[in-house]
Amino acid sequence: MRLRHKPWAGEKLGQYPQYAIAEPETYKGHWAEVFGNPNPVHIEVGTGKGQFVTEMARANPDVNYIGIELYDSVIITALDRLIEAELPNVKLLNVNAKDLKEYFEKGDVDRVYLNFSDPWPKNRHEKRRLTYKDFLKLYEEIMVDGGEIHFKTDNQGLFEYSLQSFSYYGLLLTFLSLDLHKSDFEGNIMTEYEEKFSAKGQRIYRCEVKYQS
Ligand code: SAM
Repeated sequence: MRLRHKPWAGEKLGQYPQYAIAEPETYKGHWAEVFGNPNPVHIEVGTGKGQFVTEMARANPDVNYIGIELYDSVIITALDRLIEAELPNVKLLNVNAKDLKEYFEKGDVDRVYLNFSDPWPKNRHEKRRLTYKDFLKLYEEIMVDGGEIHFKTDNQGLFEYSLQSFSYYGLLLTFLSLDLHKSDFEGNIMTEYEEKFSAKGQRIYRCEVKYQS
């Protein structure tokens, strides 16, 4: 299901099929056709206004990126960025992440990025967190064996919850930073939220985890 808050946004997304994939279910198991190459596919779930996927695509031309975003009112800004950047290796999907299996089959995706995911701090909303166990299962079901999740947030509560969720699920922790911007991590590409929160002096947490085959 696509959420339409700006009526014209859907229309504009439809005008740029080279960037916004209108019927992604058509490409399940065939994403190499969309990109015209068999390069690895990295998806960002909750891409927002698309700064991260655009800049990652510019920096890594041998990787194919897909930004996934629920709201057309937000993803439309990502589309504007792509129209400007004219990059062949990044696409957008205006869909709900809970339906990822409609668009991807096992092995279609090599890596999942989760950046500044909504924290849903109330216990009763745990299932909505993108690091809840059901989402971890969903990512596993569309990724290659040994696929990775790279996760960044400013929210300590969500980070601690997610580390626990990853650990309970049996994921292997391969990178951890409790203060990314003061670490020696190289090549960090900032997201919109990261810029906003770090400008306010908030520390950024980052980890990488890997599915064990
Ligand atoms: N990643 C961006 C950044 O770091 O600047 C945006 C972060 S914003 C806090 C989280 C985004 O995730 C929102 O744009 C929201 O609409 C999107 N989102 C949340 N749940 C989603 C879902 N189930 N499927 C797709 N997008 C989702």
